[in-house]
Amino acid sequence: MSESHNLIELISKSEISDRVEKIASDISASFKNETVIFVVVLNGAIFFASDLARAVSIDCKLDFIKVSSYIGTKSDGKVKLEKDLSLDVNGKNIIIIEDIVDTGLTVKYLKKHISMKNPKSIRIASLLLKPDKAKLPFNIDWVGFEISTEFVVGYGLDYNQELRNLNAIYKLGDVI
Ligand code: 5GP
Repeated sequence: MSESHNLIELISKSEISDRVEKIASDISASFKNETVIFVVVLNGAIFFASDLARAVSIDCKLDFIKVSSYIGTKSDGKVKLEKDLSLDVNGKNIIIIEDIVDTGLTVKYLKKHISMKNPKSIRIASLLLKPDKAKLPFNIDWVGFEISTEFVVGYGLDYNQELRNLNAIYKLGDVI
């Protein structure tokens, strides 16, 4: 139960909304007079994506993709596609909207998977990045905040499916 967790605020509601506005204006400037498809990575990116999509001044469409990851018998994890895109992204500008890049496994899988559908361009926006952990062969184009390797919840990020609806980002302290 959420009540039994010791939540320590890491990033406030107003810090998030200021940063989302800034990223939205950068995206709007980068894609002036163009159309973008925001690919929202379910479930964690829903609030970030909905705030971002409402803050941009360009034409955009929204589509949704869902993956699950699990650690295999080796140290490398595997990603499984749970729900694919519905829109045709051939020749389109794509921005993948992620909640957090931790090891980078998910975003690497998504970039490769969507690349095979021949989009015009693929960019990535992630609300959070754990740079000490992420091992990526490419840059994340827009990062909300860099954080350390601690586990965080809120603003879409869950703990066993709970706590997503918190409107700030919290560190999960010891269970009390
Ligand atoms: P990856 O390791 O593939 O970069 O991250 C995969 C997924 O793990 C993220 O999309 C997110 O759902 C989850 N994840 C990674 N770090 C955290 C965290 O600190 N908090 C929560 N709630 N989820 C996380």
